[in-house]
Amino acid sequence: MKDIYDVIILGAGPAGLSAGIYAARAKMKTLIIEKGVPGGLIFTTSEVDNYPGSMENATGPVLSERMKQQAEEFGAEFVTDEIIKMDIIDDIKSVEGSLGQYKSRAIIIATGAVPKTIGCKGEKEHIGQGVSYCATCDGSFYSGLEVFVVGGGDAAVEEAIFLTRFARKVMIVHRRDELRAAKSIQDKAFKNDKIEFRFNSVVEEIRGDGAVESVVFKDTVTGELTEYKANPEDGIVGVFVLIGYTPNTEILKEIIAIDASGYIVTDERMATNVKGVYAAGDIRDKPLRQVVTAVSDGAIAAVEAEKYVDRIK
Ligand code: NAP
Repeated sequence: MKDIYDVIILGAGPAGLSAGIYAARAKMKTLIIEKGVPGGLIFTTSEVDNYPGSMENATGPVLSERMKQQAEEFGAEFVTDEIIKMDIIDDIKSVEGSLGQYKSRAIIIATGAVPKTIGCKGEKEHIGQGVSYCATCDGSFYSGLEVFVVGGGDAAVEEAIFLTRFARKVMIVHRRDELRAAKSIQDKAFKNDKIEFRFNSVVEEIRGDGAVESVVFKDTVTGELTEYKANPEDGIVGVFVLIGYTPNTEILKEIIAIDASGYIVTDERMATNVKGVYAAGDIRDKPLRQVVTAVSDGAIAAVEAEKYVDRIK
C-alpha cells in the first residue's frame, strides 16, 4: 500500500496547486501530475494584479512558483507526465501516464481549459504583446487605447462592455451579421457609445513589430481585405480573442459526466458523478474562470477528498 497515494491531483495550475497545498497540509499522501510547467494559464500571464494580495512582483510565473513551493513544503510530490488513460471506478484508482502508472484513493482533476485561438497569421507571435484571451486580466493595460474584441457570444459582448471602462473605443468583430450573445447583453452593447461593430468580418492577420500595430480583416461575404492601423498617437491596438474555450477533457469523455460544451459537471463540493473523483478550476462548468475561483475550487476539492479518503481508508 506504500505506493498508493491518498490523492492524485491532475494539473498544476492554480486549482491543482491550491488542492495540493490543502491536501498535503492535511497530511494526505499527495501526488501532483503535470504534463508541462506548473502554473497553467497564469504561467503565460505577465501580471496577475486582480488576485488579492498579489500586487507587487506578481507575474504569472512568480505566483505559480510560489504556489508550487508552498505545496512542496507541505509534502506534496510532483511528477511530470502526460496522462493517457484512467481507471477511476474502484476504490483504488489508477492513472496511467506515458512515463508511469500511479494509484490513489481519490483524484482531483484540475487540468483546465484552453482558450480557442483564431489561428491567423501573427496571432501566436503577439500573445501577451497585444493579443489577449482574458479581458478581466489584461483590460486595464489598454486604458485610453483602442481595442478589438473578436467573437459574438456572451463572453465577447460582456467583456467588450467591461473593456469600455478602460479603452477609448471597443470594436466587436463578428464573423456573421448577428451576435450570438443573449439579447439582454446585446442591448447593453448596442446602447454603449464606446462600442462599434464589424459584422461579417474575421481577423486574417495581426501585424506589428513587438506590439500589435495593425490588424487585417477579411469580409466573410465579399472576401475583401482591409487593414486597420493603430491611431499614430497610440501606436498600438489591442486584440481580445473571446471565441470560447476548449476544456481538457478528451480522455475523460467516456468515464465522467461532462456537459454539452465539454466541461466536467460537479456539485458545489466539487464532487463529480464518480465516487472519490473531484474536479476543480477551469475544467468545471462555472461562471467565472479566474485564479481566485480556481484556488477556491482546489481548496474545497482537497477538503472533500480528505473526508472521502478518511471514510474509505
Ligand atoms: P460561445 O457562446 O461558444 O460563443 C463563441 C463566439 O465566438 C460565437 O459568436 C462564435 O461565432 C465565435 N467564434 C467561434 N469560433 C470562432 C472563430 N474561429 N473565429 C471567429 N469567431 C468565432 O462562447 P462564449 O461566449 O465564451 O460562452 C461560452 C458559454 O459561457 C456559453 O454557454 C455562454 O452562454 C456562457 N457565458 C455566459 C455568460 C453570462 O451568462 N453572463 C457570460 C459569458 C459566457 P458564431 O456565433 O458564428 O458561432
